[in-house]
Amino acid sequence: MKEVIIIGAGPAGMTAAIYAADAGLTVRLIEKGMYGGQMTTTARIENYPGFTEIAGWDLSQRMFECVTASGVSLTTDNVLSLERSGSNYKVICQKNTYEATAVIIANGVTRRKLDIPGEKEFAGKGVSYCAVCDGNFFRGRDVAVIGGGNSALEDAAYLGGICRRVYLIHRRDKFRADDKYVRAIDSFDNIERVLSHVPIRIIGNETLTGIEVKDLKTDIKRSIPVSGIFAATGLISDNSAYSGVVDLTEEGYIVSDENCLTSAPGVFAAGDTRQKKLRQIVMACADGASAAKRALEYLNGV
Ligand code: NAP
Repeated sequence: MKEVIIIGAGPAGMTAAIYAADAGLTVRLIEKGMYGGQMTTTARIENYPGFTEIAGWDLSQRMFECVTASGVSLTTDNVLSLERSGSNYKVICQKNTYEATAVIIANGVTRRKLDIPGEKEFAGKGVSYCAVCDGNFFRGRDVAVIGGGNSALEDAAYLGGICRRVYLIHRRDKFRADDKYVRAIDSFDNIERVLSHVPIRIIGNETLTGIEVKDLKTDIKRSIPVSGIFAATGLISDNSAYSGVVDLTEEGYIVSDENCLTSAPGVFAAGDTRQKKLRQIVMACADGASAAKRALEYLNGV
């Protein structure tokens, strides 16, 4: 039996599953949480061809329907490590160990932490990394969003629609986000830009009551009273489970090219987890297709 294990059910993993199953491979798709990956934390997606606009959750759902239609079901487990085992690989997970000749790693990336006092204590109790998931808890209240990229501005616009006031705190005086996101927040009069400021401490006792920030131009510190803080400070990779088998870049991404080959024969990397310049859903899908085709060739000895 030609089996491939796919780790991660984001757009890369789901596409890989569809292509691999349609090519006749037996597919085990392992996901530790909910399918969809970063898509599920995005309110609106406006650059995925075929939809002028679609909610991230809806796109995840549609992709998963295609996975199911290809006959693939999810294995819910958390990957701890990957080991070579003769001509196969063992994927060692929290609940079980699975074995296959080919493995596609499509585990995506996670949100970068703020790394400031109070963050750990208030994580899930006022500090959030997903505005779409948690924004509703702060309806009608004052919140802060940290970051200046597409995610931060998208989060600020989403929260601007449901919260009383949104403080958009960014460490530079210019946003990194695309112009369309900057224009979008201009239309909100309840989004206050706090530029050239860094967060230094989260304030609260029993509950979160504010954030202390420092003006980088004057070094003056001040407190902003808020009930919720949304960190949107970028994405980081966590490939420690695979470091013994595949080469990683200094930043921890899997060394790979557009053919999704890694330094280990039979192990492929697809989507945000691999070294690349542009991380987009459409590119993750392209990687998924490519990785599945390469895995098929590998299993067929091509
Ligand atoms: P990002 O583009 O890397 O932006 C991260 C932001 O956080 C930057 O503004 C950065 O500041 C700031 N930052 C980083 N570390 C910080 C710290 N310790 N304290 C304070 N601020 C910090 O990340 P992202 O917005 O999550 O986007 C990630 C990728 O997904 C990007 O490629 C983005 O284009 C893509 N994305 C696409 C869409 C879309 O097309 N619909 C939507 C969302 C995200 P500096 O600017 O000073 O570095």
